[in-house]
Amino acid sequence: MLIDTHAHLNFNAYKEDSFEVLRRSLDNGVWMINVGSQYSTSKRAVEMAEKYENGVYAAIGLHPIHLETEVFDYEKYKELAKSKKVVAIGEIGLDYKPEYASSEEKQKTVLSQQLKLAEALSLPVIFHCRMSHDDLIKILSENGSRTGGVIHCFTGAWKQAEKYLGMGLYLGFNGIIFKLNLDEIIEKTPLDRVLLETDCPYLTPKPMEGRNEPSYVKYVAEKIAKVKGLGYEEVVEITTKNAQKLFRIPASPAGR
Ligand SMILES: [Zn+2]
Repeated sequence: MLIDTHAHLNFNAYKEDSFEVLRRSLDNGVWMINVGSQYSTSKRAVEMAEKYENGVYAAIGLHPIHLETEVFDYEKYKELAKSKKVVAIGEIGLDYKPEYASSEEKQKTVLSQQLKLAEALSLPVIFHCRMSHDDLIKILSENGSRTGGVIHCFTGAWKQAEKYLGMGLYLGFNGIIFKLNLDEIIEKTPLDRVLLETDCPYLTPKPMEGRNEPSYVKYVAEKIAKVKGLGYEEVVEITTKNAQKLFRIPASPAGR
């Protein structure tokens, strides 16, 4: 069994067939966390997860690229988090890519509000961080990442990775490892700190093309096994355990 720790079947790219894609993933032994990026997609992730007893979970949060159109409403998100299927706050963080950026100050303020929510609810955090690792490291080392979490889609430098790992955080890898050369980071990151993800519909791993989906997470596992010189089964087993531990996801009753 694999767990795609960062999927977006709650996004409009799957408007027509989200449940078909979801079923295909579960049938292939791939569980998932659908991650919200604003209130509407967070709510949709929770609604999808609520339909399944096992295998489908939700993360809720306000992504830094949506701060110009949405104000973070602590109480509304707290209410959403009452669902037992909510396993994390995310994706939240910092994004300094010029075309998306709200002011850095605003991003930091909203991030800290959401970190408070994570702490109040004792939920781990799924961090989005683009062109802003040094600022995120500074914030986390000053305030601590008290509930743990993952730096999703990590593409930074090893010295930044080391800092996150030193704070007890996990690193999430997806199909971007086929586009950028992250071999050194993958080699040096202990397997017990690696999480697998797709970030679907984006970042489709090779050899697949077109829209990404959770069942393709196996290609990310294969590539990590190759880079680390480990067996595929070992990578699957350990990374699934990592996800179960961080997000407190129960083991599959069928054991697959
Ligand atoms: Zn995402």
